[in-house]
Amino acid sequence: MGEEKRLIYLDNAATTKTAPEVVEAMLPYFTENYGNPSSVYGFSQKSKEAITKAREIIAKSLGAKTEEIYFTAGGSESDNWALKATAEAYRGRGNHIITSRIEHHAVLHTGEWLAKQGYEVTYLDVDENGTVKLEELKKAIRPTTILISIMFANNEIGTIQPVKEIGAIAKEHGILFHTDAVQAYGQLPINVDELNIDMLSSSAHKLNGPKGIGFLYIRKGVKIRSFIHGGAQERKRRAGTENVPGIVGYGAAVERAVRTMEERTAKERELRDYLIGRVLREVPYTRLNGHRTERLPNNANFSFQFIEGESLLIMLDMDGICGSSGSACTSGSLDPSHVLLAIGLPHEIAHGSLRLTLSDETTKEELDEVVESIKKIVEKLRSMSPLYEDYMRRR
Ligand SMILES: *Cc1c(COP(=O)(O)O)cnc(C)c1O
Repeated sequence: MGEEKRLIYLDNAATTKTAPEVVEAMLPYFTENYGNPSSVYGFSQKSKEAITKAREIIAKSLGAKTEEIYFTAGGSESDNWALKATAEAYRGRGNHIITSRIEHHAVLHTGEWLAKQGYEVTYLDVDENGTVKLEELKKAIRPTTILISIMFANNEIGTIQPVKEIGAIAKEHGILFHTDAVQAYGQLPINVDELNIDMLSSSAHKLNGPKGIGFLYIRKGVKIRSFIHGGAQERKRRAGTENVPGIVGYGAAVERAVRTMEERTAKERELRDYLIGRVLREVPYTRLNGHRTERLPNNANFSFQFIEGESLLIMLDMDGICGSSGSACTSGSLDPSHVLLAIGLPHEIAHGSLRLTLSDETTKEELDEVVESIKKIVEKLRSMSPLYEDYMRRR
């Protein structure tokens, strides 16, 4: 692909562009204020103060206290930490964890690992929209349940979970509630007290911040073990010299996300609905995956019958369009997405799926081009599909 070719980037659930104001905020912490925040001399104070400021911005955005924010290397680490450390610290009380079938692999694979260590893990089913069933959650609770981990919003189909209700159920039973809010944070307002959230995972690169920096919110009073042993950083819970530029960038990204949230997400919702409307109207044998309204402002996920999502992605790429067939983690494998199977799609439909996730830079003109491209490609792929031919003949 030539440099001059235009790019339509619709994979913002995989990662986002680091906002220029975020990069600008970070730069001095590489070149000028490079002191180690743990050092004694005045020079390193600038680094220390910058971390404090970012922590304050983040804590405020969630209605949390600064000492409840622990920086990590990203969403996967935060998810691992929340599950593994809770399991260890609360082992005396029980060994049962409840999560859902549609979690990110950072939660699912940690759950599998914990099961090998003797924990029992219940994976809740979801309905056809990808929403956790609250009645099933209540039924799954045992005297030995120590943790409920349900994501805030799904990274593939965009469905937003009834987090407030889940938090209330957890609280009522005295069980800790962790939520992977990597997709929701920055797109939806979140208050940890109102929602009874005890732990929350986030990652900067999903909200126009840099890659490799995240945090885990841990409510005061929750017993949690150190995840990385070593120095005294992060209240001795997560050792290692702080990623100062990353933390500064994270703070700037959150400040920007909070400031722009209302306008940005309103615009994204409108464009998302425009895209969904056009695709469903203009491409036959197509369905929308995920909840129609309770979904992330920037997420659209379609299944096109009789085609392979991978072929569609490759041909979209030739048109300069970046999309995804599932999560970045499963791309490259031929297994259909666990999320699409969990909402009840048959394998062959799940295989023909496309996720498009918008940013605040996405324009209507770009979406018009994308729809035309999809129409052309789907028609072409179907014309080569024996399944489609067979279906049309028998109709
Ligand atoms: C991207 C993502 C993660 C992983 O975050 P990293 O910072 O890439 O490790 C975890 N959960 C969800 C829902 C995600 O979308």
